[in-house]
Amino acid sequence: MKIYDVTAPIFKGMPVYKNKPEKQPEISTVTNAHVTESRISIDVHTGTHVDAPLHMMNEGSTIESLSIERLVRHAKVIDLKGVSDRITKEDIQDKGINKGDFILFKTKNSFDTEFNFEFIFVAHDAAEFLVEQGIEGVGIDALGIERAQEGHPTHRALMGQDIIIMEGLQLKEVPEGEYFMAALPLKLQDVDAAPARIVLIEGI
Ligand SMILES: [Zn+2]
Repeated sequence: MKIYDVTAPIFKGMPVYKNKPEKQPEISTVTNAHVTESRISIDVHTGTHVDAPLHMMNEGSTIESLSIERLVRHAKVIDLKGVSDRITKEDIQDKGINKGDFILFKTKNSFDTEFNFEFIFVAHDAAEFLVEQGIEGVGIDALGIERAQEGHPTHRALMGQDIIIMEGLQLKEVPEGEYFMAALPLKLQDVDAAPARIVLIEGI
């Protein structure tokens, strides 16, 4: 059984959205005799994470309201390494995306080693297509599913239909195909996202 860990490591100096210093994790460690204890302070959108509708909609639901059955299930990795700039409807309309699917887009982003301001994102027309198909969730290998587009149309189109959004996946090693996914966001209460450990398991 092959397990792909598609989670970004969290550390001081890690890639963060737009390289904003305030988004860097703070990690402090205290050692007394043989006892070491660390404390972290992080943005909930750090590294690999799951967004909740509250992130882009004031009345949206919070991260703990996503049922675990929606996050531990099969998912399809679609290889879009050939796409430049943005993922459009045209790029994905013939990829066999069906009702109830959880779709993970693998793009050139997975090969970046630092934050790329020109990261590949999901264009509004592609988001509308995903909504029409009736998917359950979508993930991307960038720290954003859009590049702060005016009004955040991609986030809002997806979240408006209760489609789960995952960001910050690391899919470099993962071939296109279907996997069993375990996506486990921290069980934070009343917030707009949570960092998650996400693995894809082949052959089950
Ligand atoms: Zn996010």
